[in-house]
Amino acid sequence: MGKLIKEEPEKGRLHIDSPLMGESLVSKELLKRTESTEYFRMHPDINVIKIGGQSIMDRGGKALFPILDELIKAKDKHKILLMTGGGTRARHVYNIGVDLGMPTGVLSKLGDKVSWQNAEMLSVLLAKHGGVKIGHGDNLEQLTMFCRLGYMPITYGIPPYGFFEHPAEHGSIPPHRTDCGAFLLAENIGARSLIFLKDEKGLFDRDPKKVPESERAGLPFFSRISARELIDLDLDDLIVERPLLALLQRAKCLKEFQIIDALRHPEHILEALEGKHVGTIIYKEES
Ligand code: ADP
Ligand code: MG
Repeated sequence: MGKLIKEEPEKGRLHIDSPLMGESLVSKELLKRTESTEYFRMHPDINVIKIGGQSIMDRGGKALFPILDELIKAKDKHKILLMTGGGTRARHVYNIGVDLGMPTGVLSKLGDKVSWQNAEMLSVLLAKHGGVKIGHGDNLEQLTMFCRLGYMPITYGIPPYGFFEHPAEHGSIPPHRTDCGAFLLAENIGARSLIFLKDEKGLFDRDPKKVPESERAGLPFFSRISARELIDLDLDDLIVERPLLALLQRAKCLKEFQIIDALRHPEHILEALEGKHVGTIIYKEES
């Protein structure tokens, strides 16, 4: 891209000579030229951790309390933004909404209330440890400051598309739910890492819960796989929302994310924060 701002000191004037002037911003050639080799990262020390709704929160205290203990310990060493999933209540409201023929954008608005409920509960449970619930507005520029002051910011995972949610490939359930929200926020703030806390050790070639107990041990497991390979594999079901794969392929800052089994192994949270490979890592294939 050419120099955006041309100064003419001898005339004492600033001439704005924008290479984007008169462009549709659609041309592939032009857009390629705007690609930067390095993008600015606003919160490069923040780790985004998404606590699963169905996989963790819905299981109540037995699953959640050991995880919160680990997060409280981890907070002294690592800056953490917690994000919440929806889970069974979100599925219930989607089911009613689908039955009533609700548009995708309305379903998205219904789902965000549920992940908000989970953020509310986490903020209460973590209040005396600095847990503070924040929205999707101006507080997001302040995340590093919150963490430096000893807070653990908590926000809900549904991205604020609402009526602007994209149509789904199949059916009308909003395609960008809380896994996508955690990803999009982590990418846009230039986060250090993104970790999904779930109830399986990572990605198998199919949903382990739909396989008889006796066959689970032999299920092929992916410990590290690129988003591109995973798109090509076109598995019927995944442990993360499908649009995440295409989003990761386009990411400018985030190079990978990890999915871990925080239900059976809450201690993996600190290990993952320290860069250890304890679950499935899905990474962006560099072109
Ligand atoms: P969360 O509540 O964290 O969003 P979900 O229940 O939506 O979690 O998704 C995680 C679940 O995805 C796992 O508990 C697992 O049963 C299921 N799953 C589906 N396909 C796979 C797969 N290929 N590998 C592993 N888990 C899978
Ligand atoms: Mg989910």
